[in-house]
Amino acid sequence: ALTAGIVGLPNVGKSTLFNAITKAGAEMANYPFATIDPNVGMVEVPDKRLARIDEIIPAKKIVHTTFEFTDIAGIVKGASKGEGLGNKFLENIRQCDAIVHVVRAFDDDNITHVSGKVDPIDDINTINLELVLADLESINKRYTRVEKVAKTGRDKDAQAEFAVLQKIKPVLEEGKPVRSIEFNDDEKKIVKGLFLLTSKPVLYVANIGEEDMADPDGNKYMPEIKKFLAENDPGSEVIGVAAGTEEEIAEMDDDEKKEFLEMEGVEEPGLNRLIRASYKLLGLETFFTAGGKETRAWTFRHGMKAPQVAGIIHSDFERGFIRAETVSFDDLDKYGSMQAVKEAGKMRLEGKDYVVQDGDIIEFRFNV
Ligand code: GDP
Repeated sequence: ALTAGIVGLPNVGKSTLFNAITKAGAEMANYPFATIDPNVGMVEVPDKRLARIDEIIPAKKIVHTTFEFTDIAGIVKGASKGEGLGNKFLENIRQCDAIVHVVRAFDDDNITHVSGKVDPIDDINTINLELVLADLESINKRYTRVEKVAKTGRDKDAQAEFAVLQKIKPVLEEGKPVRSIEFNDDEKKIVKGLFLLTSKPVLYVANIGEEDMADPDGNKYMPEIKKFLAENDPGSEVIGVAAGTEEEIAEMDDDEKKEFLEMEGVEEPGLNRLIRASYKLLGLETFFTAGGKETRAWTFRHGMKAPQVAGIIHSDFERGFIRAETVSFDDLDKYGSMQAVKEAGKMRLEGKDYVVQDGDIIEFRFNV
């Protein structure tokens, strides 16, 4: 499964956010969480479309798709030099597919900040510097060796890699992440093989106070964070989440939750926004199955074709794939019944080259 690793300086609210995630995940009806690693938090991906599909095509149960967060505790200044178990942290980050970077954006005199004052930009810079330094070290190790081979002119792959390294090195030396560089598809493949920390997509989470819950972007630090990221880490995103309050919400029963959210003037927990933003960050999309005993959401990667997607449900579906009978959620929602969708000619018979779209409701036909 794909996973987003939660990083951040000590005392910014990482554990609080992770606890909120685990508590929310423990509510899940269909997940055997006894098997989960304590550093991994599984959550359901909230999706209102499931309830609507189930209303039109009723089934016994609704099954959400899930998403995983990993708690990567304790990165500190000097991690790239192997200080404070630094290597272990960097290694844990390397295993993740995306990074959720928590910074402190709440004021509370009772909670000390490691650098003495609340300064989210400084939080971002401190951690990113460690990641940039770690990447520079791995690049430098390769640079001279690959340069030597490339200069012989006899190795196309080495030449291509050297060109990429030449593109990356000065950006890292400027303190900027590799994800801020634009690469073409061939270069992207090479970059992927370098396993760099700063090439991973990042979602910044500003841990805001409860008072900013109804309007996270109204948090006083938010404008400067956005400005900083636009200039220094384009392509990344920031959302405001009140970690402390989210942990409390995750412990409430449905009625309490509803009442509390109404009182706060928000439609849904901030955790839902976090889950959806992380999902999107990884290029993940959702398709549905319906009409059997359950109405179910499944995760696939943007750009996957029908047989591959069928294989997510069962490998037999991929092996014996014949076609995908597909209806888009918007059509089902609009016409109100499968019958009406068919009569309007909106049921599509898609073959093996069909690129599955977010919101597709699919019935796979296959040979056994
Ligand atoms: P970590 O070291 O980054 O994992 O930080 P913790 O999650 O342990 O949080 C550090 C301290 O800040 C704890 O005392 C939390 O209760 C507190 N804290 C976390 N989030 C919030 C918040 O949103 N508001 C306030 N006021 N305190 C918070």
